[in-house]
Amino acid sequence: MADSLRYDGQVVVVTGAGGGLGKAYALFFASRGAKVVINDLGGSFKGEGGNSKAADVVVNEIKAAGGEAVANYDSVENGDKIIETAIKAYGRIDILINNAGILRDISFKNMTDKDWDLIMAVHVTGAYRTTRAAWPHFRKQKYGRVINTTSAAGLFGSFGQANYSAAKLGLVGFTEVLAKEGAKYNIVANVIAPLAASRMTETVMPPEVLEQLKPQWVVPLVAVLTHKSNTHENGSIFEVGGGHVAKLRWERSQGLLLKADDSYTPGAVLKQWNKVTDFTNPTHPDGPNDFLGLLEKSMKLGPSEQ
Ligand code: NAD
Repeated sequence: MADSLRYDGQVVVVTGAGGGLGKAYALFFASRGAKVVINDLGGSFKGEGGNSKAADVVVNEIKAAGGEAVANYDSVENGDKIIETAIKAYGRIDILINNAGILRDISFKNMTDKDWDLIMAVHVTGAYRTTRAAWPHFRKQKYGRVINTTSAAGLFGSFGQANYSAAKLGLVGFTEVLAKEGAKYNIVANVIAPLAASRMTETVMPPEVLEQLKPQWVVPLVAVLTHKSNTHENGSIFEVGGGHVAKLRWERSQGLLLKADDSYTPGAVLKQWNKVTDFTNPTHPDGPNDFLGLLEKSMKLGPSEQ
């Protein structure tokens, strides 16, 4: 069935669709019946300059193959204009792929405000602006599918990428809220950490590895998550690349429960540090109330627990 997933009559907006992963998503959705908005500013991977060529090339490729697509050259920082293009051209939006991205890698010691601000503007504010503009349409039609793009750098931290890592993990939090607020309107939002050969990675990985990491190998997961049949994966985090797809989640150690009174001292915590860090019987929290539940337990403990 998955091989025949189709998106006929649906309108898909892909940001940063002029190359790399975005282009792969765009070509796929167009080949499966969707009308696609190809957004790309056409700048360098450091976020400098811009031209319309990147988006135009992809639109032409889709049209040449008999598909439907329209270009948009705005920065995602003006995401409302990208959604406007979808509404003007096709009258609706069903799927939003927040994919546009840049890098400003530099050690934290040498990072400037510009390096920080530009990364936040493109990744975080960009995803916010497009999603904010699409949201009323999604709610009204009681249908929407969103993919946000995080990175292993965001999930785990990566040397020289304090700005990018902070922005990318920010997108995880953003996705979790969209998933919770959108659920009752059949708006489903998930976040992926891809690994693929693109101009972003071609300078940091050897050719034989890049050969195994075609952007096309990220597409099937995105296709599944954005299909109308997906109503169960919402607010999920995936790592995907080179044919591997895996889901990630938070894990909490058993933890130390002490009575919260004057006996709750640094020494009391230190004494049972092994419990704080013991992952033998972990829990997998998925909401803020989860921790409150633990506190209720702690409040019932007697001093003997210390
Ligand atoms: P890429 O550079 O090939 O594609 C990014 C595209 O976004 C480019 O075409 C660029 O012109 C466009 N873009 C940049 N700034 C824009 C803006 N302000 N408005 C509109 N378009 C803009 O890189 P890619 O590897 O395909 O990256 C796609 C996404 O995946 C990015 O968000 C990136 O951070 C993320 N990512 C990629 C990898 C990987 O291994 N390639 C790993 C982790 C995360």
